[in-house]
Order: sequence, then structure tokens, then C-alpha cells
Amino acid sequence: MTAPIVTIAGLHKRFGDNEVLRGIDLEIAEGEVVCLIGPSGSGKSTLLRCVNLLETPTAGTITAAGHDMTGPDADLDAARRDIGMVFQHFNLFSHLSILDNLVVPQRRVRKTPKDEAVAEARRLLAEVGIEGKERARPAQLSGGQQQRVAIARALAMKPRLMLFDEPTSALDPELVGEVLSVMKGLAAEGMTMLVVTHEMAFAREVADRVLFLDGGVIVEQGAPAEVLTDPKTERARTFLHRVL
Ligand code: ADP
Ligand code: MG
Repeated sequence: MTAPIVTIAGLHKRFGDNEVLRGIDLEIAEGEVVCLIGPSGSGKSTLLRCVNLLETPTAGTITAAGHDMTGPDADLDAARRDIGMVFQHFNLFSHLSILDNLVVPQRRVRKTPKDEAVAEARRLLAEVGIEGKERARPAQLSGGQQQRVAIARALAMKPRLMLFDEPTSALDPELVGEVLSVMKGLAAEGMTMLVVTHEMAFAREVADRVLFLDGGVIVEQGAPAEVLTDPKTERARTFLHRVL
């Protein structure tokens, strides 16, 4: 068994006197798809954001994609190249064309030669099913298309790990499926993924492991069939009754 691609130990995060994460221990294996579920305010986004240090942990250690995130010599730029993140609200560069949303970061961050960056951008856009939109601006695309572009843009950095924070929560219901199907494809190709989601059917089908977070601790975890069908704790049962 190879070393885990994510190792979190004793993670605490506090905002003022609000202790949001209260001792998280988590290992994720290469190629594993982990879905993180739990009530609003339970700390899911904060946990995800600690992994790539968008939030600074109050205590604990994190290594991710080969980077010691909490060590004194953490190279955040290098780490964030290797850790892709997709947010609820796409966060595309609104002033750039769809093609340039993928080309510019490759040129700036990866120093990729222009021809190569353009070819890679076209390949990735085709892979997420975006055709004939290269010159369009993000606002001209549907939410589902924008989110697929955001995934392609993250993949252009050739990440070893992908973090998704409720990637379909801002979408009209009829657009959710196209984004989930891109994520399924990515999982099938062996990408390591940590996904905050309320899409229980997706978690059941794609996750290797489901974590239920409540009050800043992992209350329950296991195979989707266990956690989603036969939760051991009252808190998970109550949550699942509400969302299913
Ligand atoms: P979830 O994603 O599970 O809904 P979050 O991680 O976003 O939960 O938030 C957990 C708690 O942390 C909430 O009480 C929220 O108000 C608080 N919180 C999150 N980010 C910040 C911040 N930047 N400053 C202060 N409080 C925050
Ligand atoms: Mg959140």
C-alpha cells in the first residue's frame, strides 16, 4: 500500500471563540473518492479549505499531494498546483474567454508554452463536453457549462488531488447531472477526490468512503452502503432523514 495522498492529524480550526473543527484525523489513499456530508455549519468547507491552506489550521498537521502544508517550509504555490479546487460558485475569470480561462493559468503557473497550453485547453474542454465555446465569456454559458469549465481549468494544472465544495449546489436541477457525470468520469480515471456534496445518489454510486461531519468532528464514516443506508449514530440518521 502506497503512502496516503492526504494525511490530516489532530486538526483544529477556530474562528474567534467559535471552534469549528474539533480534532479531525483523516487519511485518503491515492485514487480514493471520499464524500463529505453533514449539516450546514458543521465545518465541511472549513475542512476542505484547510487542506490547501485557504484557511490556516489552529492546530494539527496536514500533508497533501506530497506537500507538508503545515510545516515551516510549506511552498503554497507548488502545493496549490498539485491540489485542484472547485467551488460552488465556479469562480471563472469573467473577463477572459473560456479558452483563456484554461490557457492563462497554465502559462502563468506551469510556464507551459503557448501552443501546448492551447492544445491542452482544447483537449480538456472536449473532455468535459464543452464544444464551440472557446471565444465566449463565462457569463454566456449556463451554470452547468461554467462549472464544467471550472473543472477543466483545475485539471489543466495537472493536480494529484481534487477538492470539490458543493459543486452542484448553485445549479438549476436540470444542470446537476452533466456536472456529476464529468466528476464520475474523473473518478473512473483514478483521480483522488474529496467532495463535499448533498447529492446522496452520487455519493452512493461514486464514493469509496463517506464521512459524516457534525459539530466539527467526523461522527461516522465507512462505505456508502453502510453510512447512507444503515447509519450507526442518531445524528447521522436524523441528517439523512432530512436530506433523502
Ligand atoms: P459547512 O461548509 O459545513 O456549512 P463551514 O465550514 O462553512 O460549514 O462553517 C462552519 C462554521 O464556521 C460556521 O459557523 C461558519 O459561520 C464559521 N466560519 C466559516 N468560515 C468563517 C470565517 N472565515 N470567519 C468566521 N467564521 C467562519
Ligand atoms: Mg460549506
